Amino acid sequence: MKIPVIFTIAVAFVLVSGCSAQEPTLADEQESTLADEEPDVPVLDFIADGYETTLAWGKQWRPDSSSSKCQNSSAFPDVNLSSHGQFNLELITGKKFEQITKTDLTSILQLEFSDWSLGDHVRSDSLRSYEGLEYLTCLQWLRLGWKPLGRDFRFLHELTDLRFLDLGAAGFFSHVEQLFALQKLETIVLPNAFRSLNDLVAIPSLKRISALGNRASCDIEPVLKLPHLEELHMKDSFHHKRSQPPAEENDFKLSRDPSGRYLQLLQKGGADTLNPDFDTEQLSGIHDDGYVFSLGQAIYEVVADDYDVIAFVGNDKTTQVEYAGMSVQISNDVAGLGQPIWSSASCYGSAGRLRGLVTFPTMDNFLHVDPVPFLTSGSFTHEVLHLWGGADLLPIQEKFNGEVTGGHWGVSSADGILGGFSSDSLTVAADGSYKTSFFGDNGNAGLDRPLGHLEQYMMGVLPASEVPDTTVFRGVSQVSTNDSFATCPIDGSSDWIYATCFRAEERTSVSIEDIVEIHGERPYEGAIEISVLVVAVSESPLTSDEWSQLDAAVSWNMKSAPVEGTPQNMWEASGGKIALISPAP
Ligand SMILES: [Zn+2]
Repeated sequence: MKIPVIFTIAVAFVLVSGCSAQEPTLADEQESTLADEEPDVPVLDFIADGYETTLAWGKQWRPDSSSSKCQNSSAFPDVNLSSHGQFNLELITGKKFEQITKTDLTSILQLEFSDWSLGDHVRSDSLRSYEGLEYLTCLQWLRLGWKPLGRDFRFLHELTDLRFLDLGAAGFFSHVEQLFALQKLETIVLPNAFRSLNDLVAIPSLKRISALGNRASCDIEPVLKLPHLEELHMKDSFHHKRSQPPAEENDFKLSRDPSGRYLQLLQKGGADTLNPDFDTEQLSGIHDDGYVFSLGQAIYEVVADDYDVIAFVGNDKTTQVEYAGMSVQISNDVAGLGQPIWSSASCYGSAGRLRGLVTFPTMDNFLHVDPVPFLTSGSFTHEVLHLWGGADLLPIQEKFNGEVTGGHWGVSSADGILGGFSSDSLTVAADGSYKTSFFGDNGNAGLDRPLGHLEQYMMGVLPASEVPDTTVFRGVSQVSTNDSFATCPIDGSSDWIYATCFRAEERTSVSIEDIVEIHGERPYEGAIEISVLVVAVSESPLTSDEWSQLDAAVSWNMKSAPVEGTPQNMWEASGGKIALISPAP
């Protein structure tokens, strides 16, 4: 998963009404694919790259002085305001917290994060979260910065006077319903990969929408019905990509294996064509949405729409790529996962059943059984968990280098397949650094562990009432050691090389109630069944030995009964609550 790049400081600049006078500029009509001769038809733009346009849109705003009860709706002062919220308000107003009045906050009409100009990243100078912004109830214009401040955007719900809202840099924003109270909103810039475009019909005041890189449905008819819509910018969106012919003609040859249980995909370049490294200059294979749309469409010409997951397994011994597996989530119909209910399944040829794709460059990435049985490894369980929202339940989490992350549990006690440490092993060293048993911030290797509590909750097989609190560290950095592999200094203990050490500025505890307040509750299902189509990917047909190897790996991964030895498949790792089935195509 891609994370917004942190490239600058984030001190907030505040303009208290009377912004710089500049004539409104209209967006460049020549860049639009449809002329606006017909005033009722919104301009649908596939060319504008966004930055210039959104700056121009931002400058068009003029303060609206019509009557508003916004001063009264601010709940400031609030005795429950956190230290982060107090810090943020001091930064915004330039006053000591005790001296800040409600009038100070409600006289602010326009707020822009200063990380729109390049600079060094200075953690202590920036907003620490979005807390406190909910008291700025008279804001009419807001542009958030690039620095990820977490997944809690509930403050937006209070800013009902907003006319202009730029969330282009707020990559974690996903809950469209948090915008529904903004019934005066005229212009919105959505983050790349936003998935709920059509739900914006709930805000009829909208005139301008930037939905670049939008990964919502390929069908945008609903949003085009907005009564005042003038411009909709959709470059590189799914709608745009689906309407374009593929860059290269693909030569997918699909057939069933001799047993009839699997599909065989033959194509030029084999699994390497599907699994290249990510290259922004030239997106290809799994990173090229147009290619994956075509592949999905080709598959649904030969199989029924019976699968939640399509798993591609490369018929290769080795690979040059840097990943062992990759997932592409395509839809979600489950509440409470920290992501919207949405579906782009139609882009891929599914009527709606398809939740996502997972791909493994080699057979060993899918399942590797070392001669030493406890060393069995494989990425299948990890990638499937990503299709249920990955690790985006926590309000915020960081990697070892302090970068805010998503998709994996980071430096937290989630202790699961997607990373995190065991809270039982957490100790504090004399120098204030933390030490735990060995863990990864972007996934725990090996199959010798069950799903973490939050992972079980995410999958619907553990009720919220049984999820323990999660310890989450912020301001994380590494302990310097003399050894390039070890993260802990040699402290005389016998386990220093098998442990993980890190420093952190802040230790917080996140309860399941905190998570439910932000994302809603994930309904408990008790047990679930996931239907998987396995597709072997190769340049030339698989031999019978290769089919046997694939069959053994699939059978191990999907067995709904105890498997031998320490390694656990999904069924075992979920306490027998997640069954994987593979109906014949
Ligand atoms: Zn992952």
